[in-house]
Order: sequence, then structure tokens, then C-alpha cells
Amino acid sequence: MSWFWVVLLVFWTGGFAWLADTVRTALRNRHERKLELLEATKQERLAVEAAQQPPEPVCGCAHHLAKHDKQGRCHERVEVPTAWDENKKPLRYEAAQCNCQQYVGPQPLSQVYAEDLTDRI
Ligand SMILES: [Zn+2]
Ligand SMILES: [Zn+2]
Repeated sequence: MSWFWVVLLVFWTGGFAWLADTVRTALRNRHERKLELLEATKQERLAVEAAQQPPEPVCGCAHHLAKHDKQGRCHERVEVPTAWDENKKPLRYEAAQCNCQQYVGPQPLSQVYAEDLTDRI
């Protein structure tokens, strides 16, 4: 009858190892799912925050539209390279006016102001 115990022991230890492995994998998967859920919640919150921000009226030259006059010329001061080395890396800069003519593509939608819907008198 001793072979019976040997077989039983082999099956039992093998089965136990398999069970432990399965449990470990399941726990890891659950942990990963939880992390994914946390990440998704964070992304969602960031997206909501970004959606609540009014669009910045920034021109294609990266300067605010308020820096542009009615003709569209940008009045922001910028640094213009005046000398380059042999690798075309600028060596010297000179202050100059941004020569942007203003972005002429679609404008950001203007915002409509709405009163809160309350029963206040
Ligand atoms: Zn500009
Ligand atoms: Zn501009």
C-alpha cells in the first residue's frame, strides 16, 4: 500500500502548488484591475478639470491674443538669433518684435454666461 501514499503525496503536493499558483495569479489580477480602476478615475477627473477650463486664446506664435493689435500684428518681444555656429546653433540673440500676423484659422468659441438656476430672490 506504500505506493498509494507516494502517488497521493505527489498529487497532493502538485495540486497544492497549482492551487497556490492559481490563487497568486488571481490576487495579482485583482490588484492590477484595482490599479487600472484608480488610473481610470484619475484620468476622468483630469479630463473633467480640463473641460471646465475656458480655452486659452493663444495665437499660433504661442503668444496670447491680447498681445496682438487690431491689424493682427503681435507686439510681444522675442529673441531672434543673429549669429550661428557651424552646427547652425544660434550663438547670439537680439531682441525684436514677434513678426506674427496672427492666426487666421477658426477662433475658439466665445463663452456664453448663464446665471445659476436657483430660487434666490
Ligand atoms: Zn507673437
Ligand atoms: Zn501671434
